[in-house]
Amino acid sequence: MTLETPPAVNLYDLTLPELGDLMKRWGQPAFRTKQIWTQMYRNLAPSFDAMSDLPAALRERLKAEVQLGVLKLTREQVADDGDTRKVLWQLPDGNVLESVLMRYPDRATVCISTQSGCAMGCVFCATGRMGLLRNLTPGQIVEQVLYFARGLKQDTFDSVTHHERVTNIVFMGMGEPFANYDRWYASVERLHDPQGFNLGARNLTVSTVGLVPGIRRLASEKLPINLAISLHAPNDELRSALMPVNKKYPITELMAATQEYIEQTHRRVSFEYVLLQGQNDTVEHAEQLADLIQGMLCHVNLIPWNPVPGAPLERSHRKRVQEFQQVLQNRGIACTVRMERGVAIAAACGQLAAVPQPA
Ligand code: SF4
Repeated sequence: MTLETPPAVNLYDLTLPELGDLMKRWGQPAFRTKQIWTQMYRNLAPSFDAMSDLPAALRERLKAEVQLGVLKLTREQVADDGDTRKVLWQLPDGNVLESVLMRYPDRATVCISTQSGCAMGCVFCATGRMGLLRNLTPGQIVEQVLYFARGLKQDTFDSVTHHERVTNIVFMGMGEPFANYDRWYASVERLHDPQGFNLGARNLTVSTVGLVPGIRRLASEKLPINLAISLHAPNDELRSALMPVNKKYPITELMAATQEYIEQTHRRVSFEYVLLQGQNDTVEHAEQLADLIQGMLCHVNLIPWNPVPGAPLERSHRKRVQEFQQVLQNRGIACTVRMERGVAIAAACGQLAAVPQPA
């Protein structure tokens, strides 16, 4: 029988009290915990060597016994004159995930993965075709953000638009966050922590395919993070064809949970609606959608579909998008068409698939 050595702990997976326990076990004074935490989440130290206020002996022990991150950057692609940057990461077990930085004049948003692959199987989404490979740990979710934050802080990313920090995080990359709820929410707490990364909860947005228990749970959380719901169809028949999850949580149940969420939190929700030519983008569909959500505290984000190789679908033509938007606006529903980003490097919504792209 062989005994496998357990992998060294990833420091980003620890909470502040857990880091405190580790330092205590190592016989370190209490203030070291805060020092290391500040280095990790405030100074964004890229290595233990960069934590120059720690004694050399402690740095050596950290290097020998724990890890400062486990994601391996395997590819980085840039588009939109440097304003969109997509990174492919490899996990220690060989599975992969992607994350994207998008810079706009007024904000720098990172789109983060919560799983490697996804079990939800939405037909228009490249990630859905991978199936679920693995849930990410809180540390692995946080690491994606810190990489971009470090690049912005140190100004190492060449781009047209400049920001010194990440201003917004959207959990809209690979995976369904509510299918990995505990680990995902632990990452939210870590990124929000005023003693650490300190990003306001209102600058965080989670997107769900409509897992009703997750929506209910989020409604009772302390942090007021934003909720986006991927709706994509206004009736059960069509939604079940596009999104298998609808068979488990049909529209009536989803809408009831969303309404409860709004009543409990008084926060506006976003409905995401990907537009597929001839599938879900007619004036009748827009009217049905309006019937469904009129009067709710909500906003609709229309997303002209981004191509996924092999999918027998087509992006809605511009005129259809405009007509769809007009119907919603005529019914008094706030509605925007999402700005297109990163299509050339398959970094746009629904395109993340962690497969090699042609050069
Ligand atoms: S759209 Fe989101 S939930 Fe659906 S398959 Fe893709 S990653 Fe999963």
